[in-house]
Amino acid sequence: MTRSHVFPRHCHAALPTAVGGEGCYLIDADGKRYFDGSGGAAVSCLGHSNARVREAIKAQVDQLAFAHTGFFTSDPAEKLADLLIANAPGDLDRVYFVSGGSEAVESAIKLARQYHVENGEPQRRHLIARRQSYHGNTIGALSAGGNAWRRQQFGPLLVEMSHIAPCYEYADRPEDETPEAYGQRVANELEAEILRLGEDSVMAFIAEPVVGATLGAVPAVPGYFKRLREICDRYGVLLILDEVMCGMGRTGHLFACDGDGIAPDILCIAKGLGAGYQPIGAMLCSARIYDTIAAGTGFFQHGHTYIGHPVAAAAGLAVVSELLERDLPAQVRTRGQHLQAALEQRFGQHAHVGDIRGRGLFQGIEFVADRGTKAPFDPALGIAGKVKKAAFAEGLICYPMPGTRDGRHGDHVLLAPPFIATEAELDEMVDRLSRAVDTVI
Ligand code: PLP
Repeated sequence: MTRSHVFPRHCHAALPTAVGGEGCYLIDADGKRYFDGSGGAAVSCLGHSNARVREAIKAQVDQLAFAHTGFFTSDPAEKLADLLIANAPGDLDRVYFVSGGSEAVESAIKLARQYHVENGEPQRRHLIARRQSYHGNTIGALSAGGNAWRRQQFGPLLVEMSHIAPCYEYADRPEDETPEAYGQRVANELEAEILRLGEDSVMAFIAEPVVGATLGAVPAVPGYFKRLREICDRYGVLLILDEVMCGMGRTGHLFACDGDGIAPDILCIAKGLGAGYQPIGAMLCSARIYDTIAAGTGFFQHGHTYIGHPVAAAAGLAVVSELLERDLPAQVRTRGQHLQAALEQRFGQHAHVGDIRGRGLFQGIEFVADRGTKAPFDPALGIAGKVKKAAFAEGLICYPMPGTRDGRHGDHVLLAPPFIATEAELDEMVDRLSRAVDTVI
């Protein structure tokens, strides 16, 4: 075998070569078919062979491959921005296109800072985020993220930021506290942190409406996000919602925050926006933010060469058109209920499954050593990684996350299948996962 010159993320993994994609399946060079139960990492919402998106990409390449946004705008970027804003929550009014999730979050952090500077409040410099969150791997986004495992080697490079508790009912709500009271209590940590840092010194708060990669599809309890919104409004703090993983229909709403009845000042999306057909992300912001900068320096001091790429925008336009015209978020809600019921039936009484949670086609399963005490497995056992491996052997792709060493949460796997998966395919996915789990615990 010749030596590969690709730098893979896992240096010692012998990976099969993917050569094809068909509906919900990926196919390797040996002809083995894998059900894409996590859309890679919540990316492939339309499956792997959507004709409309493929045609849109081909047509755009034939017409115009690239025009730098320092000189031109393009039809697909304009149309995609119109479509997103027509369906966006609250008063979001402008769309800044980037190439992925980390770039969207970096852009949001810098936009929040620039807004306050141009609004005459340069003292606002603190960003508050949550522990056990993930916002991307670039330095700013990684600084905002609270996942110790992802941060551990890069501590000296990270920007200092505050981290408050996430809303993680399974692990953190005491039995004698109602979900509502718990939600208000953890949301109030934001107010306490703002007061600690200085009432007018905080620029923004960032959170995922449904926590993805770090906790495994954990939605907040009712009322939690409404309280956060109130606190942000009270202290002039911008609310940034990171829907890179949970947005674009994944939870049964085009935007996940619609499920919590609130709207942010800045919203980050990616993954499902390009559905894997093109790398594209976006940051949406309110007219107030855009207008402040337009009336001030008139220039957002941030940018990348590939922002607003016409081919990526054409793919995104076809994806969002598919989502809306076929009302796929509604399909996600019903298929999500089916999936939840199937997971409950299969794993609900499992001795080592502590929690099954999620929204729509975004579900997480948390493995525990002891259901009664909720004690996680020792992370050194690598339970999530072993389940991923066993599932892959069964022809199933699922997304694993190890538990944290502080024992705060256990190993889990995340399921985020394509929205086009049939009920029979979802049942088959649960069967394969069940066989995999049985071989590990
Ligand atoms: N934000 C969230 C919530 C994510 O889940 C991710 C990726 O998993 C990112 C940001 C970073 O996105 P990307 O990997 O496209 O840079």
